[in-house]
Amino acid sequence: MSKTLKKAQDNYFLLSLGCSKNTVDSESMAQLMERAGIGGVGNPDDAQYLIVNTCGFIGPAKEESINELRKLGENKRDDQYLIAAGCLTQRYGGEVLKQVPQIDGLLGTRRWMDIVKLAGQLRDKKHPDPIYHLPEVATVGTDERGAMRTSIQGTSAYVKIADGCRRPCAFCAIPIIKGTAVSRPIEAVVAEAQRLEDMGIKELMLIAQDSTDYGHDLGMKDGLAKLLEQLCTQTSDIPWMRIMYAYPGYVTERLMDTMAQYPQVLPYLDMPLQHAHRQTLKRMKRPANTDWVYRTVESLRNKVPELAIRSTFIVGYPGETDEEFETLVQFIKDLRFDRVGAFTFSFEPGTTSEPLGDPIPEHVKEERRNYLMEIQQQISLEKNQELVGKTMDIMVDGNGDGMSIGRTYRDAPEIDGMVIVEGELPVGEIVPVRITGAMPYDLTATVDIEGPQIIGDGLLQL
Ligand code: SF4
Repeated sequence: MSKTLKKAQDNYFLLSLGCSKNTVDSESMAQLMERAGIGGVGNPDDAQYLIVNTCGFIGPAKEESINELRKLGENKRDDQYLIAAGCLTQRYGGEVLKQVPQIDGLLGTRRWMDIVKLAGQLRDKKHPDPIYHLPEVATVGTDERGAMRTSIQGTSAYVKIADGCRRPCAFCAIPIIKGTAVSRPIEAVVAEAQRLEDMGIKELMLIAQDSTDYGHDLGMKDGLAKLLEQLCTQTSDIPWMRIMYAYPGYVTERLMDTMAQYPQVLPYLDMPLQHAHRQTLKRMKRPANTDWVYRTVESLRNKVPELAIRSTFIVGYPGETDEEFETLVQFIKDLRFDRVGAFTFSFEPGTTSEPLGDPIPEHVKEERRNYLMEIQQQISLEKNQELVGKTMDIMVDGNGDGMSIGRTYRDAPEIDGMVIVEGELPVGEIVPVRITGAMPYDLTATVDIEGPQIIGDGLLQL
């Protein structure tokens, strides 16, 4: 048996695409493979199993998944097995095979935990036909087989608290892909956080498709607040906890009170709102009571001092008139969010928005997105300028060449800004720095927190 063959046997190569929730599934699959004695390698040539955990959310992500599968498929050797896992496979099943005929195994995102079983079936199969592992299951599986539902980056970790979604958003394919919302038992999440605490993790990002729906399927009211309270009391050595993906209408007084009461819960809230005009929101099948948003943001800011709010918006949704878009622009100006992501509408067959088609030209969508981000860039800069002279804690994410980069509580990894600091700080630690400068999204800082103080208007007190 050739050296390459010998070396590849019982190794896997895993490419994870899409969102942080998919990354968690990838790392859980990796854990199960490792536990089965199949080791992970960074080079596909050194692997027997080539796994792509695909994304099937919107057009560009689907394309990327197909391209990556094709690349691996075209270079695949006879002793290798190509596995298409994840959301694209769950959504399109055999269609994926038509696009990439070299695929040997199809594994849906709802049964990520069957990866070892599929790997074994592939190795033992005596026929050339691909193996479909797409059982008709209503939801994401809850038999996690002891795999941690986390994705660790340095001393930060994404923790999946639930999967799937029961919301009716017209443009979104997630409920088609994942099924309805399934919460992990609170004990399982707390036990996992305790393992992470023992591993020295300092920041938890709680993720789900809709974190504010946590516990609903378990009969809990205000489940997210209750989960946070348990996490804060039972993992007191984890100083930073971050709430991602809150659904408007479910950011309750109880949740606000919990955020205000527990310093570990960062004054940061990611709450995708998608639009601000009632008619657009109605066509999106999203909560259309924007007065509620104004009131909730106001009470959040009253209850949680220094709160940083992140939101995301879709422009170019079918039927979006200039007037509707202007309402969104005014909304952004009024509420002055700390962080904003703006996306152009992506037509998704099979979603309830399909009959609306995709009437708004791409260039108009692009113009609207760019204009919205121009407005936001100025707001973000002004908010950053208000921080100059302040001393803030940052999580150090990296260092080198006499510099370090980190994040304040206002910055979730990968999607928000960063702080550039003179000096090499210990990676993975939370350290105080003094903000010395502001850019539209990022800040500069120094470790010399006792240094010259800003007395106002950027003037230095020497
Ligand atoms: S809440 Fe989010 S994941 Fe759920 S349907 Fe709406 S956009 Fe999709």
